[in-house]
Amino acid sequence: MGRLFVISLEGNIYSCKHCQTHFAIADDIISKSFHCRHGKAYLFEKVVNVTIGDKEERMMITGMHTVVDIFCVGCGSIVGWKYEAAHEKNQKYKEGKFILERFKVLGPDGSDYLGSQEAHVGGSDADDA
Ligand SMILES: [Zn+2]
Repeated sequence: MGRLFVISLEGNIYSCKHCQTHFAIADDIISKSFHCRHGKAYLFEKVVNVTIGDKEERMMITGMHTVVDIFCVGCGSIVGWKYEAAHEKNQKYKEGKFILERFKVLGPDGSDYLGSQEAHVGGSDADDA
């Protein structure tokens, strides 16, 4: 692999826990009330410096969604997923938006988040819908 062009963000940045590649800023958070297999997850308006995986249909707490996993361009670790399509009408607001799993990223103050031990149904997702 050659050298990758990586976008730098400014502000309250969420970055890769492993290689510090910037992913998103706090201003782009749409909702913090999501969950993934490892605890908290945030919904972002946009995320940079990620590559996407294959589309798949995934059953979430709020219904069936077409999603792609997203991976850090710096180190290749999986950091969350993107919603390509929502099958339920009231979940359409998520389309084109990104989930970052909180324990996979460093917060704005460099804080780490240790995954919770709570068990979540299925894979993930949820909101206050
Ligand atoms: Zn990384």
